[in-house]
Amino acid sequence: MDCLFCKIIAGDIPSAKVYEDELVYAFRDIAPMAPTHILIVPKAHMASADEVTSENSGYVARIFEVIPGIAAAEGLTNGYRVITNCGEDGCQSVKHLHFHLLGGKKLPDQMA
Ligand code: AMP
Repeated sequence: MDCLFCKIIAGDIPSAKVYEDELVYAFRDIAPMAPTHILIVPKAHMASADEVTSENSGYVARIFEVIPGIAAAEGLTNGYRVITNCGEDGCQSVKHLHFHLLGGKKLPDQMA
């Protein structure tokens, strides 16, 4: 499949891994928008949040289960933001579901 994040998960494209288990892979964003900017992705391909179903929602649950540990390891003791962009209006550029974990500074309070 011609998917950038599937290739990263497979190790065909290098990434700065911060966490991995059987369901989830997390790595540093190549163009960070905050001192900590990590992408957390399901190892199964799903294009976006719009493709989450009762069949694959376990991947999403696992992502949210591991976020507190990743945030703690990054020293995000004062909070952080988790975002997923979906589709054209959401400005999603990579069509493999991913959650941005942003922190390390006070983030802008305006989302749009
Ligand atoms: P989105 O715009 O929500 O689809 O986010 C895609 C994110 O992937 C952007 O923040 C990019 O900087 C990031 N990105 C694109 N290519 C890579 C890569 N090879 N390694 C790490 N992050 C990447």
